Amino acid sequence: MAIVSIPEPSKEITLGISACLMGEEVRYNGGHKRSSFCMNQLSDFFHFQSVCPEVAIGLGIPREPIRLVGEMGKEQVRVVGTDTPELDVTDQLERYGKEKAMELTDISGYILMQKSPSCGMERVKVYHENGSPLGAGAPGAYAKALMETRPLLPVEEEGRLHDPVLRENFFTRVCAYHRWHSEVMTNPSYKAVVDFHSVQKYTIMAHNPQDYASLGRIVAEGSKKPLNELVNEYFTALMETLKHRATRKSHTNTMMHILGYMKKTVDSAERNQFLKLVEEYRQEIVPLIVPITMLKHHVENHGNDYIKQQTYLEPHPSQLGLRNRL
Ligand code: SF4
Repeated sequence: MAIVSIPEPSKEITLGISACLMGEEVRYNGGHKRSSFCMNQLSDFFHFQSVCPEVAIGLGIPREPIRLVGEMGKEQVRVVGTDTPELDVTDQLERYGKEKAMELTDISGYILMQKSPSCGMERVKVYHENGSPLGAGAPGAYAKALMETRPLLPVEEEGRLHDPVLRENFFTRVCAYHRWHSEVMTNPSYKAVVDFHSVQKYTIMAHNPQDYASLGRIVAEGSKKPLNELVNEYFTALMETLKHRATRKSHTNTMMHILGYMKKTVDSAERNQFLKLVEEYRQEIVPLIVPITMLKHHVENHGNDYIKQQTYLEPHPSQLGLRNRL
């Protein structure tokens, strides 16, 4: 059996996205915020479902800009017109966020436009009624409703995707989310959960070694619970685990575990060569893809089906080059 990879550019994974990032001229001033990363690099691999919540609730193009307004010490934040505070669209944006979260059942992730009072995922500027900025930021109203309604959906801001670690983390979660829904939720069973967990083990280890044990326990004790309880408990724990960012240390640990799995078949010269690359990776001399490529070579030649199927070896489309940066 060859190493199992995630589906290559078939675009079978759909992402929600703020429409202005697609180059759609939907901003308050009739402009857009076209993302070359999304449009040039991601569009070969993912299908996009674009949404502009402000246009969807009936605000025109162009339109008066809106902003978040709150009071010091109070959590409640409203979305109102910058010039016309009576224009309060909070409830409409929240309602639309809930509706869209329920309607977009086929998405496996969502890329949001940062700093927007509607779409911003976090830390959007909040103002006092008198126009002075308040300390802490807040999520945009649409994004907040979306994330509260679909708490396990991978969500990220386009700006943060320029950070290689956050970017790899997001797409690992997106691909795991997609795989879960296509491999388990289409026909849920205890066996489907066990099989799914079996191929995710080293991905889980790379993100959080402690959760590797606790997720294993959830699966091992799964047959004592009703299936829907197991499914919810496992998937919630998995998506929380994958939010942890894999580090050089945890990747090194995971690669060593995989090598250890083949210790009887990988000879000492091959092993030393691999250890040298792992050390160079650990010292930030080479990117992750370098030791991973050699590891995949050994897995291909010496691994059994269990190890060949591990998603850790290719958690997202390799052409995206998400492991190619130092
Ligand atoms: S940030 Fe959101 S609401 Fe604003 S223009 Fe873009 S898609 Fe529309």
